[in-house]
Amino acid sequence: MSKELRFTGLGASPGIASGIAHVREMGIVDIPEYVIKKKDVKTEEDRLVRAVKLAQRQVRRLQSRAKEMANGAGEELWALLDAYLLMLDGSRLVRGAEKRIGEQRINAEAAVQMEIAQISGAFQAMDDAYIAARLDDIREVGNRILLNLGKHPLRPLSALPKGSVVIAENLSPSDMAQLDPTSVSGTGTLLGGAEGHTAIMARALAIPSVLGVVGLMGGVRTGDRVLIDGSAGLIVVNPNADTLKRFDKRRAELDKVSIRLARLKTQPAISRDGTEIRLQANVELPIEMAMVEQVGAQGVGLLRSEFMFMNRRTLPSEDEQFAIMRQIVEGMNGYPVTIRSLDVGADKASQAVIGEMDDSATTALGVRGIRLSLLKPELLEMQFRAMLRASNYGPIRILLPMVSTVNEVQKARKILESAAAKLKRKKIKIPSALPALGTMIEVPAAALAADALSQVSDFLAIGSNDLTMYTLAVDRVNEHVAELFDTLHPAVLRLIQFTTGAAMKARIPVSICGEMAGDPKLTALLIGLGLRELSMSPANIPRVKQRIREIDAVAASNRANLIMDQVDSGRIRILLEDFNTLA
Ligand code: PEP
Ligand code: MG
Repeated sequence: MSKELRFTGLGASPGIASGIAHVREMGIVDIPEYVIKKKDVKTEEDRLVRAVKLAQRQVRRLQSRAKEMANGAGEELWALLDAYLLMLDGSRLVRGAEKRIGEQRINAEAAVQMEIAQISGAFQAMDDAYIAARLDDIREVGNRILLNLGKHPLRPLSALPKGSVVIAENLSPSDMAQLDPTSVSGTGTLLGGAEGHTAIMARALAIPSVLGVVGLMGGVRTGDRVLIDGSAGLIVVNPNADTLKRFDKRRAELDKVSIRLARLKTQPAISRDGTEIRLQANVELPIEMAMVEQVGAQGVGLLRSEFMFMNRRTLPSEDEQFAIMRQIVEGMNGYPVTIRSLDVGADKASQAVIGEMDDSATTALGVRGIRLSLLKPELLEMQFRAMLRASNYGPIRILLPMVSTVNEVQKARKILESAAAKLKRKKIKIPSALPALGTMIEVPAAALAADALSQVSDFLAIGSNDLTMYTLAVDRVNEHVAELFDTLHPAVLRLIQFTTGAAMKARIPVSICGEMAGDPKLTALLIGLGLRELSMSPANIPRVKQRIREIDAVAASNRANLIMDQVDSGRIRILLEDFNTLA
């Protein structure tokens, strides 16, 4: 029997999973090959250059992880990756493919494929073991370039056998969104942080996941038995009988807790001293609505509409968007649904939306969220039309992501008014009053201008994930700085406090929908800061509700005042833990 191996990483989605490893190879499906016109040669060459640059960035990132591997194993990998980097820097493969685009007038994918085929032919003729190994390296590098050219090719991740544990170098949020939780029991990746959208999606689908696991790729093979503890951030490969028993016991304990928490479904979220809190769900896909119903959420506080635009090459039509929104609105039976306009950019890619836009344009500090929507106003207007039509079936609110100026909200409101006017002209029925239009506070500038934004917004929603990332300059998806991602940093808390205060002064509703909202350890602090609406991954609602029912809101407010006088998060954590153990 194979020896048991253990790997640790970032616990990104809680729960225990056990299954058979499905290591996602760099396999490619569906590579388009076609002839191009002379005028398109430059575009194809540019695509190739971009795909190669992206491959260089990816390999460098893998290299930096290799350094962290123990026992010198990393050194060997590091050297191999160094050879890949050399190959990506103007080697025969890259130069040859570039030349073929211009000379043979073919697309970049076809040029790379042909070049690999030609190099293979020449190498195979040499009949030498060393050369054969180099050929594998060339194929590996070529495949990486091909994957990047397709950006997010539709890979058959959705068709995995029941009980699979997906092991991959990296999974994007759209990869994760494709997984079917009835067949995939868990995931583990080498790259990725616990606050990114891949992790959020894993939690939404309740797939136990561990991300940022050093040494993972070399330690697991397809077919190995794998156990995942998504809470502890542990992956065990080829577990022995003792480990299996321990995991079974832990799973039984967790099941017991879930059964106990399920009884809270119909209980109100009211503190001991009578303060009522509205607990809502964050939703990405309609498949999550069963869970939303199961936990008794009082509405959807954040519908991340960008997930409708992933895993497809073309934009969803207004009717398609409307059908999804209607399904979610009807599923809430009269509770409100807050639909956020497209938040593509940073770690959320959509080939359909971004198309040929350079990757560097849509980074976290680039064209993301409302910025992208205002560059493509016809797309925003289409989304608004779908939302307005869905509002015939239940109350909705509209939320704008990544706002940093008052002007962005004003422009978006004009587009909303124009969408409504167009529908009315076409005699399409919509409610007479426009839905409330709110602003996400997730950029420090927005938090500091929350008083001004309150004047042009009907409500505010605090996005503490991005607010933490941008305030602390810590990338949410970078596993190297995961430990610095600290929502209890006084700077983040002050911005939350300022935002909440500004909304209250302007007498508009304010909610929080970042991952903080779903952490029961932080519930007392958020209530103490005056928040009365929390939106979270539905799986967290029962635990947060349980916590609210134990808390005295006045005492929480006093403790929050004390916490806000502190200057370091260590002390804040102690004061919070102390409060949590007392009340
Ligand atoms: C946030 O940033 O906190 C938020 C809720 O938005 P997202 O996680 O989708 O970026
Ligand atoms: Mg955000």
